[in-house]
Amino acid sequence: MPDFSRYISHPVFKAVAEQAQKMQLETYVIGGFVRDSILERPSKDLDFVTIGSGIELAAAVARELNPRLKVNVFKNFGTAQFNYKGIELEFVGARKESYDRQSRKPSVESGSLEDDQNRRDFTINALAISLNQKNFGELLDPFRGLEHLKQQLIKTPLDPDITFDDDPLRMLRAIRFASQLNFRIDELTLDAIQRNKTRIDIISGERIIDEINKIILSPVPSIGFKLLDQTGLLELIIPELSKMKGVESVRGVAHKDNFYHTLAVLDQLAPKSKDLWLRWSALLHDIAKPACKKFVEGQGWTFHGHNFVGAKMVPRMFKRLRLPLNEKMKFVQKMVNLHMRPIVLSEDEVTDSAIRRLLFEAGDDIDLLMTLCEADITSKNEDKVRSHLNNFQLVRTKLKDIEERDAIRNFQPPVSGEVIMQTFGLAPCKEVGIIKSAIKEAILEGEIHNNFDEAYRFMLKTANELGLKKAN
Ligand code: ATP
Repeated sequence: MPDFSRYISHPVFKAVAEQAQKMQLETYVIGGFVRDSILERPSKDLDFVTIGSGIELAAAVARELNPRLKVNVFKNFGTAQFNYKGIELEFVGARKESYDRQSRKPSVESGSLEDDQNRRDFTINALAISLNQKNFGELLDPFRGLEHLKQQLIKTPLDPDITFDDDPLRMLRAIRFASQLNFRIDELTLDAIQRNKTRIDIISGERIIDEINKIILSPVPSIGFKLLDQTGLLELIIPELSKMKGVESVRGVAHKDNFYHTLAVLDQLAPKSKDLWLRWSALLHDIAKPACKKFVEGQGWTFHGHNFVGAKMVPRMFKRLRLPLNEKMKFVQKMVNLHMRPIVLSEDEVTDSAIRRLLFEAGDDIDLLMTLCEADITSKNEDKVRSHLNNFQLVRTKLKDIEERDAIRNFQPPVSGEVIMQTFGLAPCKEVGIIKSAIKEAILEGEIHNNFDEAYRFMLKTANELGLKKAN
């Protein structure tokens, strides 16, 4: 058997091995850490399995490392966990599981290492390295997980229909690992996901979205979304995305497939930004295209208003998908709403006032919006791509110039409602609002600069036109 002791040279392994030896508990490090070490991916989560009480072993190891460490015990699950110098250590007693069809909650009894490996989701997640004196550093690999790591293959250790029926979350985990690691899913495993897809309905929305977010954050997210689509899970989880699929043609004029376009945008954005919410914006930027699609004689396919309608769809989707209904959602809405604006600006003659308006609406998110729009260029024609990117560069330069001159990004009215009310002896009323928005418009149109003196003079002029007199 090959020696894997080089992966367990960190002092915490020595501490675990020593305590396990003292307590005569057979112990292994198992799962994600072993997989990631072999793949040379950094990992700070260590899972230990012991033939006996994981809780007692955790307590002894923690005491040895630092008597002040706080150990979190989950009696119901027979697990205990603590953090040591930024490393998460989790201990569990080896177990055997059998499942009830209505939930993911298995009934659990203690078992052998093999029993515990049998209940793992994929062969590459069932690898264990021994911490026991008799075979320290030996890899225990009952399902050819090492070979599958080399073949870049996701495969269930047992019959995939049973694995997925027992815990349907594993279907999403398979796709998520394929996307994160750029692995392929074994054919029989993939067929079983297709067959068991409707079982996803027993999984909580929170767990589902956790996996979807991991797919979105993977280096090439389209891998995961294509698998979600292929297995039929996408239609069950995010039907709005499935609806974007397909190409319609009228008298030989076809539009592009908006699903694959969306995935191309997401993939192009991925190397530029790890921001989950900008990536969600890419995923949803054209979400209303199916609803807004029309064939207009002489114009071809149009999608008028899809940015606006799309932004309106965001809160409903976020709520259903258990995504946060806070400023993150507002950010995605804003991006979806504004995603056409820089493109229009780069195609037309750019006026200062159009740039000022865009800055006003995007505020501090303007750079992220530009990054999204650049990723939105998915043309196969290289000249076209180059010319669009050049135009965007011009828009970026203009944005910078105007921002330096007029400070519109975080626009605060230079003359407040208070000043307006005091100057004309008014209580809060319609006229105050009219004057305020007239000042804002004049600044955005470039009629006056964004400073108090010019705004004050403009206020006097506007008030005069409304027939208001200065108070004494
Ligand atoms: P990541 O940290 O990227 O999520 P991981 O493999 O470490 O990857 P965890 O969720 O921390 O994922 O799980 C640790 C280990 O527990 C896995 O490697 C696997 O062996 C096992 N495991 C986790 N979830 C399941 C599940 N739903 N069914 C079976 N085994 C699971």
